[in-house]
Amino acid sequence: MDFSLTAEERQIRDTVRSFVEKEVMPLEPEVLRNEREGRPGLEPDVLRELRAKARKSGFWGINTPEEYGGAALGPIMSAIIAMEIGRTFVPFSFGGSADNILYAGTDEQKQRYLIPTIEGERRSCFAITEPGAGSDARNIRARATRDGNEWIINGEKTFITGGNEADFVMVFALAEEHGVTCFLVDRDMGWTSEPIPTMGQWGPASLVFQDVRVPEENILGELGKGFELAMQWIGQGRYMIPARAIGSAERMLQMAVDYAKIRKSMGRTISEYQAIQWMIADSQVEIEAAKWLTLYAAWRVSQGMDARHASSIAKLNGAVMANQVVDRVLQIHGGMGYTKELPVERWYRELRLLRIFEGTDEIQRRTIARNLIKGHAKLGLIGE
Ligand SMILES: Cc1cc2nc3c(=O)[nH]c(=O)nc-3n(C[C@H](O)[C@H](O)[C@H](O)COP(=O)(O)OP(=O)(O)OC[C@H]3O[C@@H](n4cnc5c(N)ncnc54)[C@H](O)[C@@H]3O)c2cc1C
Repeated sequence: MDFSLTAEERQIRDTVRSFVEKEVMPLEPEVLRNEREGRPGLEPDVLRELRAKARKSGFWGINTPEEYGGAALGPIMSAIIAMEIGRTFVPFSFGGSADNILYAGTDEQKQRYLIPTIEGERRSCFAITEPGAGSDARNIRARATRDGNEWIINGEKTFITGGNEADFVMVFALAEEHGVTCFLVDRDMGWTSEPIPTMGQWGPASLVFQDVRVPEENILGELGKGFELAMQWIGQGRYMIPARAIGSAERMLQMAVDYAKIRKSMGRTISEYQAIQWMIADSQVEIEAAKWLTLYAAWRVSQGMDARHASSIAKLNGAVMANQVVDRVLQIHGGMGYTKELPVERWYRELRLLRIFEGTDEIQRRTIARNLIKGHAKLGLIGE
């Protein structure tokens, strides 16, 4: 069993870390200021410039196949890079990637949707959740009715990340007797969006489809096979959620350690009190556990193994861990942790989402328990 990275992998990790420290973290005060004044954290031209710098350093399309101009670094390196990016709350990603299910498109769909998304010219969103169907995603009500060579979509979607900015949506609707089907729908075909204010900074949107006409050739994948496609979108990258959270938790824990060493109370630095030390120790134990569960899930994907069970475990554990760590870090900072002078409260609000989206804690537990009860997963195995 070898837990080490190759020299090349270490070099990539270190280059990303130094890029994040030198180019991205210095933007944090600006991001906080913008967000607190109700503007997006990064102005589009600042983001473009940052992406261009990243591209020059070779960080473009980390997980994108080489035939589409990506670096194809694979699941383990993608998870490690997500940990590095997670160290900052600046809303930044290296770019050059597209939703995994867009690769299921026809050649023509790839030209119109996949490639422009990779190039950053188009923005997508993924819409399955409805006001009456969240965890119970099989219960969606949006309908698509055939009319000659077109489908007419009616329905409402909610909590759609990027739904306000996207110029096309991968929307899931019931296509008559065929069942759930995914359609690629351009905004100018007639759907509308409305932002939903949330406690976090990345507000989702509600989308309305009223007699939106979509040509038959815009079905993504097969007619009636949309649910499988939706699960593929969610399932394949699930380990990336805890990966990012690990970076955030490590950065915050370091802030707490640094603060504990300088903050004095009752004649001593608070780092000398066992109450504080235990919070620090418990946090590191939980971060390390999350790290190896996440890397294990990524490793299974890299080996072409079924990673669903491992990914559910990693996602549940990572989401809970991040929330426990940010709560302790806020506690260690006392009143300062609760102020907007520090980014802890921002992280606190953002990380709360991890326990809700892409399968709530309860749904992950349900999946894990059902896999064991039905015998899809077994206890006592190592890497099998
Ligand atoms: C900021 C944000 C971004 C999002 N982005 C997207 C997106 O891009 N695309 C998209 O399609 N969706 C998106 N979602 C939707 C998200 O996936 C759902 O909110 C989530 O799946 C939960 O569904 P729900 O909100 O309807 O809660 P519900 O399903 O109503 O759940 C309410 C509570 O009941 C629990 N519960 C439900 N069923 C069970 C059960 N069988 N057993 C035990 N407990 C249960 C849940 O765990 C939860 O605690 C986003 C949500 C948010 C908040």
